[in-house]
Amino acid sequence: DGGAPDLPGPHVAVRWPRPWRDADKYARGVLGVAAGDDRYPGAAVLACSAAAASGVGMVRYVPADGRAAAVDPVGPLVLRAVPELLVQPLADVGRVQAWVVGPGVSEPDDPRVRHVLEEADEPAVVDAGALQAAARLTREGTLRRPDRLLLTPHRGELERVAGVLGLERREDAVDTARDVVARTGAVVLLKGADTVVLTPEGRTTVVPGGPPWLATAGAGDVLAGVAGALLAAGTAPGRAATLAAHVHAVAAHRASRGGPLHAALVADEVRGVVADALGAR
Ligand code: AMP
Ligand code: MG
Repeated sequence: DGGAPDLPGPHVAVRWPRPWRDADKYARGVLGVAAGDDRYPGAAVLACSAAAASGVGMVRYVPADGRAAAVDPVGPLVLRAVPELLVQPLADVGRVQAWVVGPGVSEPDDPRVRHVLEEADEPAVVDAGALQAAARLTREGTLRRPDRLLLTPHRGELERVAGVLGLERREDAVDTARDVVARTGAVVLLKGADTVVLTPEGRTTVVPGGPPWLATAGAGDVLAGVAGALLAAGTAPGRAATLAAHVHAVAAHRASRGGPLHAALVADEVRGVVADALGAR
């Protein structure tokens, strides 16, 4: 029946992957971020900077249209926020161990989405502009290795995914999410005031959310970056989902400290305290 919800284990600091003594940056995990385009450049900035704050070995930003860094408008913005990252067109990007695909991607046929969902074998966070493509490819039977994927819809995106999959309408979004898991074979992280993670093995975990101030533009892009960093380090999608949601909520609580009138936050502030939140219990 999917099982009763579990509460997440509290010891994030214990479960978070950490580098062993002689690890190099490649062994630590290389994350490819296929996010952002001319319309939504900020999503790329937030996803990349959140990933960098989450302890990944290296972030490689892949711009739209296979453009080189010199002519892509998003690359310089991402580089300004995260000077450590590389901007590499899709044709050149190498040694990627996990992907974040979809935040701020407005073209349904974006080649970055096709690459990650149809050609790549690495684990991937599939968000926003890549979710409907994942549903369409499931229907067509060409979604590659869904067991490596973590889908991160909010309710509206979940409804659209369910629609593309032709699923029966359900009252409860968690039931819809469970149907999407059964149909796709991927892990689903359903975003909301609380976050629910459902795995193909039938596990359902409710992760208590951050403050309602977290319902703000870009918050999901930060979450995608955090989860991507975990996948790049080798954490399995189900565990990466619960850990990332938990740390995201803790970071949001920290970022909005200061009482009801001064608690408003923007997503970039959440990103700014992610590293701090990793030490939280
Ligand atoms: P997105 O819509 O993709 O930007 O993602 C929104 C983020 O904000 C997710 O991490 C949600 O879990 C979180 N969120 C949305 N609404 C609320 C709420 N009312 N209270 C707390 N967190 C929320
Ligand atoms: Mg979003």
